[in-house]
Amino acid sequence: MTTAVDSFADLGLSNTLLKTLAEIGYETPSPIQAQCIPVLLDGHDLIGMAQTGTGKTAAFALPLMEQIDVKVAKPQALILTPTRELAIQVAEALQSYAKNLPGFHVLPIYGGQSYTIQLKQLARGAHVIVGTPGRVMDHLERKTLNLDSLKTLVLDEADEMLRMGFIDDVEWILEHTPEQHQTALFSATMPEQIRRVAQKYLVDPREIKIKAATATVAAIRQVYWQVSGLHKLDALTRILEVEDEFDAAIIFVRTKTATVELADKLNARGYAAAALNGDLNQQMRERVIEQLKSGALDIVIATDVAARGIDVPRISHVVNYDIPYDTEAYVHRIGRTGRAGRNGHAILFVAPREIRMLRTIERATRQPIAPLTLPSRADVTNKRVADFKEKVAEVLGGEGLDFFANIVSQIAEEQNVGAEEVAAALALMAQEGKPLQIAGEDPVPRPAPRDDRHASPFSDREQRKPRFEGGDRPRFDDRPRREDRPSRPVPAGDMVRYRIDVGREHGVEVRDIVGAIANEAGIESRFIGRIGLYEESSTVELPAGMPGEAANALKRTRIRGVPINLRPDEGRPGGSFGGERKFDGERSFKKKKFADR
Ligand code: ADP
Ligand code: MG
Repeated sequence: MTTAVDSFADLGLSNTLLKTLAEIGYETPSPIQAQCIPVLLDGHDLIGMAQTGTGKTAAFALPLMEQIDVKVAKPQALILTPTRELAIQVAEALQSYAKNLPGFHVLPIYGGQSYTIQLKQLARGAHVIVGTPGRVMDHLERKTLNLDSLKTLVLDEADEMLRMGFIDDVEWILEHTPEQHQTALFSATMPEQIRRVAQKYLVDPREIKIKAATATVAAIRQVYWQVSGLHKLDALTRILEVEDEFDAAIIFVRTKTATVELADKLNARGYAAAALNGDLNQQMRERVIEQLKSGALDIVIATDVAARGIDVPRISHVVNYDIPYDTEAYVHRIGRTGRAGRNGHAILFVAPREIRMLRTIERATRQPIAPLTLPSRADVTNKRVADFKEKVAEVLGGEGLDFFANIVSQIAEEQNVGAEEVAAALALMAQEGKPLQIAGEDPVPRPAPRDDRHASPFSDREQRKPRFEGGDRPRFDDRPRREDRPSRPVPAGDMVRYRIDVGREHGVEVRDIVGAIANEAGIESRFIGRIGLYEESSTVELPAGMPGEAANALKRTRIRGVPINLRPDEGRPGGSFGGERKFDGERSFKKKKFADR
C-alpha cells in the first residue's frame, strides 16, 4: 500500500493548482486523492472505488484540469454523472478549483434545461462538460457536442448510473468518443455490469480501492429509534429540538408524496422546511439547495435520488425517517452530513419489523448503531427553558433596559404586584406561539400481559379467578406472532370484526393488540380471533356480545400511546353479528359508533 501523503505538493500538481487548494482551504489530500492524482497525472486509465464523501471530485478534477489548454475553446474533458444535482455540483467544484485559471470554462448540461440555452453555451466553447448521460447523448447525436479534442473522460458514480438505468447510454457515449483519451471510472461498488464496461472500454486501468470511508463515517454519530408509542413526526420534532449540534437536516423518506406531506407538517410546526423530489423542476431544486446553504431553509425532506450528491456543509443531521432499501443507500444518505470535517449525526427510524435491516446495515458498515432514547416531554421543556433563560441573560447583558425597567415598575405599582409577577406575565407573552411546555403525553408503556385465564371471554374484571390451572396452552406472549400461525383455531361462537386506529406504522404488532385487549377488556387472549395488521389501522375479531363495560374500556384504550377508537368494521368476518341478538344493550353501542362515521 501507499504511504500516507500529507501534502498536495507531493502529488505532482502545478503551482497554480497548489495555490488554489491552499486558498480554498484544502490542507491535505484525502486517501483517494493521494492515490489517484499521481496515477491520472501519469496518463493511466483508472478504476477508483471509494464511498461517498471521500473526495472523489478533486481526485479526478485536479489532474484533468492540468491537461486543459485554455486557449483551445473545445471540450477537452467530459464528466458523466447520474443526476443533474451532481452535474451542477461537480461543475461548481471545478469552477472553484479554476479560480486561478483565467478563461477556464466548465459547463453542466442535463435534461430539463432548455436546449436553446445549452446550445448557446456549447457554442461559446467550454473546456469541460459535466453532464447526465441522456442529455450528453442527445447533443452527440445532434452533433452539437464535438468531442474531437477530448483528452479525459470520467464516469462518476458509475454504479449509480447503472442503478438508474443509464448504463446503455453510458456505453453508447463510450462507443462514440474518439479512441485516444484517458478514462477514469469511479464507483462506490463494483457490480458485474460496471466491471464489464471497465474491461471493455478502459485500457490497462490501475485499480485503486479505498475501504469503506472509516474517516468519514467515524465522524458521524449514528443512532436509531425504534418506532413505538409516538408518531414518527412527534418523535422527530422532539429529537430535533433537543439535539445539541442541530444546524440543518436532510430527512429521507421513500416517496415524493411523503416529502411534500412531511414538509407541510414541519412548516406547520414552525420549521423552515421544504421538499426536494424529482417532481420539482430543475430551477426549483437548485433553489431549495441554495436556500438550505444560505440558511433560509433548515430542513429538506428528500427522496434518495433527489438528494444524491448534495454537499451542504451545514447539514448537521441526516434523519432516515423511512429506513432505506439497502445498506448502500444508507451510506449515501448519511454521507450528506459530517462534510468538510464537521461533526455529523445520523438518526434512523426503525419499525419493529425493520430490525433486521438495521442489523444488516450495522454489519455492512461495521459500525454499531446505538439506540436513542426518545426525549421526554420534560426533556423538551427543560431544553426550551434553558434556551429561554439564555436569551433573557443575553438581553440582561445588553443595552437599553432602563426604559423598560421603568415600565415594569409602573406596572407593578399600578397592579399592586411584585416585579416577579410582572416578569412572569412578560415571559408568558414572550412564549406566544411557541410554548415552553409541550402538550400531549409521553407514550404509555405497553401493559404487561397477564397470565390469568378465564373460561368466559369476558371476565368479570372485579373478580378475576383463574379457572384453568396450569393448562397446556402457552401464554400468548410466548407464542409465535399470530399472523405467522397458519390456522388459528377459530374460537367457538360468533365473532364480530372491529377496526382499530393503530397499525404497523405505529410500531404495533399482533401481540400488542392481543395484550391490550386482553387486559383492558378482560377478554382472554384465546377468545380473540383473527387479527389483520395493516399500515394505518388493524382489524380484530372479538366474540359477539361484548358487555358495555368492556366496550367502554376498549374505547379508552391506547396501544403504544395511540387511542385505538375500537368500532365495528364494515365488512363481516363470515360469521354474523350474533351478539346483537343476544345482548340488546350492545346494539346501541354499535349503532352509535356507526353513526359517528
Ligand atoms: P465524493 O464525490 O467522494 O462523495 P466529494 O468530492 O463530493 O466526495 O467531497 C466531499 C466534500 O469534501 C466536499 O465538500 C469537498 O469540498 C470536500 N473535500 C474534498 N477533498 C478535500 C480535501 N482534501 N480537504 C478538505 N476538504 C475536501
Ligand atoms: Mg462525488
